Amino acid sequence: MGTLYLVATPIGNLEDITLRAINVLKAVEVIACEDTRRTIKLCNHYDVKAKLTSYHEHNEHTKSDNLVKMLLAGKDIALVSDAGTPAISDPGTILVKKAIENNIKISPVPGPSAFVAALIASGLPTSKFMFYGFLSKKNKEREQELEEISHFRETIILYISPHSYKDDIIDLFNKLGNRRVVIARELTKIYEEFIRGNLNDSMIKDYQPKGEMCLVIEGSHESIKYETNPLCDLRISEHLSFYADQDFNRNEAMKMVAKDRGLSKNEVYKLVLKEKKGCKQPS
Ligand code: SAM
Repeated sequence: MGTLYLVATPIGNLEDITLRAINVLKAVEVIACEDTRRTIKLCNHYDVKAKLTSYHEHNEHTKSDNLVKMLLAGKDIALVSDAGTPAISDPGTILVKKAIENNIKISPVPGPSAFVAALIASGLPTSKFMFYGFLSKKNKEREQELEEISHFRETIILYISPHSYKDDIIDLFNKLGNRRVVIARELTKIYEEFIRGNLNDSMIKDYQPKGEMCLVIEGSHESIKYETNPLCDLRISEHLSFYADQDFNRNEAMKMVAKDRGLSKNEVYKLVLKEKKGCKQPS
């Protein structure tokens, strides 16, 4: 019986490929890929001679059956996507599932994935994170997804396309509030760029998107804050007074409120002002 290799390929810079990936691509008989015209460039660059066959979102079901037959007949197959890691917002899961059902050996050959590159350079917390892929285009599903995302405490990573960019930013701001975000664009390519700001900043809202992008978003502070500290049930001005009444100066009191609520001092300041003006705190 053959082995199914899941091989990660570069997300822009052709040098981002492991030695093992090149060796596996050279050794297998067949490479299943999304777009043969794209994968042939990688193969030519690394002198890989394996036969290419297409495996994409429109033929995933039928093609998986053919690939499983080849594997059962003893052929080794590598699955690659156009870029990055197969089966991450790309075809692959159906073939993996069918291979498992047929007791076929599966071997991952790890390497680049855009979301990991975006996360590690974002400057946002990396110890826990939520990769969410693309937001749905269907209104109802999208609404549910945004609701779900809004409660994640962890850093969130989305894939976004230039044409959905404006809608994504508006919807995220409306649902999540003015969170910190990082646009990680054209990673590993000549025009690689990071744009850091808040969802409502003009440089984010009015950004004219180009190329490939990930959006890294800070997690929800709201859900972290209230579980353990009863002071967080108070209105924010009452919370501030609690410390001020204990002889902390205003600056110290602000810092303590910020720490309790997982906010920055500046965010506390703005929320207190908002409350004074009669606006409700976000709940
Ligand atoms: N399987 C791929 C992976 O492991 O990253 C993701 C494929 S998904 C169809 C393509 C999306 O990944 C793009 O729309 C973009 O959001 C993101 N992406 C891919 N390459 C990128 C790059 N060089 N810079 C930033 N984002 C990238």
